[in-house]
Amino acid sequence: MSVIEISRKSVKTRKRHLCHGCQNVFDKGDKMTSSTNIDDLGDGIWTLYYCEWCTAMIESRYLDDIADIDGDIYEGSVTTWMEYFVAEYRHYRREPGR
Ligand SMILES: [Zn+2]
Repeated sequence: MSVIEISRKSVKTRKRHLCHGCQNVFDKGDKMTSSTNIDDLGDGIWTLYYCEWCTAMIESRYLDDIADIDGDIYEGSVTTWMEYFVAEYRHYRREPGR
């Protein structure tokens, strides 16, 4: 199964939402991105929410690193990727001459 995003828009939320990218909960009234998706088998439609930070990340050149090979973004993918990115950065900073 692959996921196809059919719409993405910026919204002011009417209730609390979990961000799909970082798994943090955001309050009612916060600005988030609402993303409506279907699966390619045609038997599901659902809406995911992204906070402003995660929206910036998935709209950046890092999307290829955040998403899997089919372009799907899993729960918490932005945080997982950020943790990896920071760990790599620290690793290279500690090795002189690289
Ligand atoms: Zn987020």
